[in-house]
Amino acid sequence: MSFTVDILPAFADNYIYLVSDRDIGLAMVVDAGDANVVLKALKEKDLHLSLILNTHHHKDHVGGNDKLQRETGAPIIGPEKERARINNMSRSVSNGDSVTFSTLHGQVIEVHGHTSGHIAFYFPQIKALFCGDTLFSLGCGRLFEGTAAEMWASLTALRKLPDDTLVYCGHEYTEANAKFALAIDKNNAALKARAAEAAALRKAGKPTLPTLLGVEKQANPFLRVDQPEFLQALAKSGLALQGTDPAAIFGSIRSAKDRYGET
Ligand code: ZN
Ligand code: FE
Repeated sequence: MSFTVDILPAFADNYIYLVSDRDIGLAMVVDAGDANVVLKALKEKDLHLSLILNTHHHKDHVGGNDKLQRETGAPIIGPEKERARINNMSRSVSNGDSVTFSTLHGQVIEVHGHTSGHIAFYFPQIKALFCGDTLFSLGCGRLFEGTAAEMWASLTALRKLPDDTLVYCGHEYTEANAKFALAIDKNNAALKARAAEAAALRKAGKPTLPTLLGVEKQANPFLRVDQPEFLQALAKSGLALQGTDPAAIFGSIRSAKDRYGET
């Protein structure tokens, strides 16, 4: 079993993920926002596209679907709850469903909050989580269509996955996320280490992804709103909280981050 995950940069800061089985020359793509980027990679690597997966309906994640499907015939699988908002889906999936590419089986996890039907795909055989705009390294997606409680439930579902899970996020937001995270949790050694690593990777022109879930559990403030050490640091940061339960604290730091800017 030899699978490769290629990271294809698109637009300003999106990543499209191309998973391939080089033995049989087939590939699947996750969130093909730009068809041309994917077609170019397929040609260079001499691969045939056999599956398109979508995490949510935003244009920067599904914009390449039509052209890719026209040119390759690959079926599109996306969230059942966004079936009306993504064209030409061959199959729509919900929590607990399974998707298959070559000998890989991916589990569908519903992670609402960024959009109302957002899903993630977890492939245990390659320890890969494709989570779209739900979890970012040192951050999380904006709440465009969901509540803080929904997003917190989504993040806790992802947090249950093993520490050695490789997290493939939809955008390169790590450095901007690190600035905010350090502002509210400035003495966290795991966070400082991850921020330094991300800065070095960007300086070298490399993606900061995938990130290890075990590292995010220690460093990402949005995964830590029920952790006593984080709450102590947060109290010292002076940020005003809208409540005391994890969902309310999550909502407080998500809105503070909205005001902070960028991602
Ligand atoms: Zn999005
Ligand atoms: Fe996006």
